[in-house]
Amino acid sequence: MLQKTQDQRQLAGSYWEASRPALRTDRQLMGNALFDVAVIGAGFAGLSAAMKLAAAGVSVCVLEAEHVGYGASGRNGGFCCLGGTKLSVHQLVRRFGLEEARKFLAYQVAGINQVAQRLETWGIDADCHSKGEITLAHRPKDLDGLRAEAAYLKENFGIKSQVLDKAALDEEGYGGPGFHGGLHIPYGFALNPMAYLYGLADQVRRKGGRIYGKSPVNGMSRDGDRWRLDTEHGFVRAKGVVLAGNGYAKETVPKWMHGRTLPVMSSIHVTRQMSEDELSAQGWTSETMASDSRILLHYFRLMPDRRFLFGTRGGIFETEPSLKAMHKRARQDFESMFPAWENVESEYQWYGRVCLSRNLTPFVGEIPGMDGVYAAMGWHGSGIAMASLSGEKAAGLILGTVRPEDLPAALQQPFKRFPLPSLRKLYLQGAYWWYGYQDR
Ligand SMILES: Cc1cc2nc3c(=O)[nH]c(=O)nc-3n(C[C@H](O)[C@H](O)[C@H](O)COP(=O)(O)OP(=O)(O)OC[C@H]3O[C@@H](n4cnc5c(N)ncnc54)[C@H](O)[C@@H]3O)c2cc1C
Repeated sequence: MLQKTQDQRQLAGSYWEASRPALRTDRQLMGNALFDVAVIGAGFAGLSAAMKLAAAGVSVCVLEAEHVGYGASGRNGGFCCLGGTKLSVHQLVRRFGLEEARKFLAYQVAGINQVAQRLETWGIDADCHSKGEITLAHRPKDLDGLRAEAAYLKENFGIKSQVLDKAALDEEGYGGPGFHGGLHIPYGFALNPMAYLYGLADQVRRKGGRIYGKSPVNGMSRDGDRWRLDTEHGFVRAKGVVLAGNGYAKETVPKWMHGRTLPVMSSIHVTRQMSEDELSAQGWTSETMASDSRILLHYFRLMPDRRFLFGTRGGIFETEPSLKAMHKRARQDFESMFPAWENVESEYQWYGRVCLSRNLTPFVGEIPGMDGVYAAMGWHGSGIAMASLSGEKAAGLILGTVRPEDLPAALQQPFKRFPLPSLRKLYLQGAYWWYGYQDR
């Protein structure tokens, strides 16, 4: 599979899709069907919810607009790490109090552990590597900030992180002229997300859950004591519904969703394989997952097959010119941050949608006024661990094995609507310019 020509590779979608082709496609919903629960979206959240429900003997289907992994779960950077919110730990403490912030952090760690446990139990080789992750200071003054962060995390959360100065970075193989130090956090690992996702879909099917591909839900309405979900060639009637469309959710399914989330783009390049000499020329030999200290951050890692994955945040509009500009900017950033690799081609490039909310936190819970309809979404660009655990928690809410108050308070708040929703991308554009200025 990896012997493709350059042209074929550009067309192949993500590197994950090319390196782990799907073994099966799920058939479309044709006609009408009755289930206890219908899940919208076959990503980490929807499949985790469906797996948990199916395992409990609930009849469940997943309605997916395209195919397993079409959304961000098949397009991400494979950093299974802390995250899920745009709030810093300081902001979390201010908004929810220290105890709740601790609970939320413990939840994130539990999410990471759950993914690791699943891979082990299911015997999936997902090319895992990296013990924890490192944030690299892109300005000398940011190293002071990372030091303060390390002290704060230790004092308030008991996290034993490690601060590295420039000399330590060079010694440990994080070579780059633009890095002035780093903060290593001992949680998380990297993986091939598609290998994990296909394993998860397989578990749903084995446990008796039904996945329908090419079945976008175009409308949702009340039908007696059930919800009716309409697709192009049929409909499903179900008592419970889990909304797990995240950045790919339709604004009107259900109507409550209108103006409550904001999908933005993140793009990824994966280079060709590099020789050990090429890696040494840049001084980058570490396989630890890394990101820089910018607000509009870059994330990157050397993969076990010696390709370098480089991702950027910050794309807002999904038009062809802006996507082209986003990829071009990403490539320029890569070359300026890793100048020794300026001639190392990107063999794969793709993008996907991450889901922001006005609250800046995810929402896992029942939609107000919609009996039996639950949401699990809004992971703010870090959803491998968070969506996996939260999908399962949403299923637990339906089963009655989880109470809303068992979840961290940060997850319990339904999404607020953005003011002037039709302009939300424009004012985010303004915020991004400001962030770009602050990042200099
Ligand atoms: C480029 C990129 C890099 C990322 N890197 C990382 C990373 O390194 N680490 C990390 O933790 N997170 C990362 N993320 C975020 C992470 O991938 C997502 O948060 C996570 O995959 C979301 O999973 P999900 O199941 O909630 O949604 P998704 O995987 O997006 O799945 C939603 C699915 O719902 C379907 N859908 C939506 N509406 C409908 C409808 N009406 N009818 C039927 N189907 C519907 C879509 O087709 C889609 O398949 C990244 C995201 C992107 C885009």
